[in-house]
Amino acid sequence: MAIGEGTASANQARHRHVQEGREVGFFTDPTVCIGCKACEVACKEWNRVPDDGFAWSGNSYDNTGALGASSWRHVMFVEQERPGGGSVAGLSVEGERVDERTAAAAEPEPGEPLVTVDPEDGDAFRWLFVSDVCKHCERAGCLEACPTGAIVRGENGAVLVQDDVCNGCGYCVTGCPFGVIDRRPEPLEGAGGAFKCTFCYDRQAHGHTPACAKACPTESIQFGPLDELKEQAAVRVEELRERGFGDARLYDPVDTSVEGLHAFFLLLGEPETFGYPPAPEVPTVHLRAGWTSALLTSAAALAAVLLVFARAAP
Ligand code: SF4
Ligand code: SF4
Ligand code: SF4
Repeated sequence: MAIGEGTASANQARHRHVQEGREVGFFTDPTVCIGCKACEVACKEWNRVPDDGFAWSGNSYDNTGALGASSWRHVMFVEQERPGGGSVAGLSVEGERVDERTAAAAEPEPGEPLVTVDPEDGDAFRWLFVSDVCKHCERAGCLEACPTGAIVRGENGAVLVQDDVCNGCGYCVTGCPFGVIDRRPEPLEGAGGAFKCTFCYDRQAHGHTPACAKACPTESIQFGPLDELKEQAAVRVEELRERGFGDARLYDPVDTSVEGLHAFFLLLGEPETFGYPPAPEVPTVHLRAGWTSALLTSAAALAAVLLVFARAAP
């Protein structure tokens, strides 16, 4: 189903993806996200995730800050500056310009917004909202690092943490290349254990769409069979490029050891702008090389010691 199909969309329909063993995913399209955070709230409510404080950041509407043990969805508010554009650039201070890009504009009165209008260049700023989540990686660093087997793979592609098996060692935290999974601190419920998005497996098992996608009013978060979502996403990128968004791209690192994501994203701009590594790797791929070099170093040190003793012997 395409964006804007409302109640006829895949997000609203019942499904049997779990029963049929079909790999599913999220395609997140920030170009239609309005930053309402309904996804964050729906996730908290359905999964009874405890609050992790009501601190105001003071410099953004994004007071969630980052994904964590008690924030399984996080709507990023990304402000992008695009030199040369025309838009509200700031308030004048005693008539002085605060941004040299406004030099061509008429002199403003103190306290007036500095506005340049240059339709050729587009907006000087753009504000992007991206609803971030666990990527449910095809090859998951958290799962590979877990020594107790607490993290398992579901038949629909989900990566799940079993609370009752997790011993809170935190290996998964360092194993995730996206900084998603984390341990829950005192005094919150489940303190010490590692938590992250469950892909709403419980909802999916009963034919329901994950709570975040179901609640999204603009279908910025689309849920469905992974192969269909990937086709849909490719069409959307082409459409955006034709409409002038030349930097539209998909973030789905299939060529690295992560081997692709079950929650992939459309981005306007470089992945780093959104805090995503351009080429994420599963840390455990370096284990063999690490152990080999440690063994070789130990063998060389032992040989050197034996040589010294052999030479010192009468
Ligand atoms: S490695 Fe990170 S992003 Fe991938 S499934 Fe694990 S927690 Fe999610
Ligand atoms: S899939 Fe479920 S657990 Fe994961 S972010 Fe969405 S609502 Fe939360
Ligand atoms: S993804 Fe959907 S629900 Fe979440 S903030 Fe954007 S528009 Fe709102």
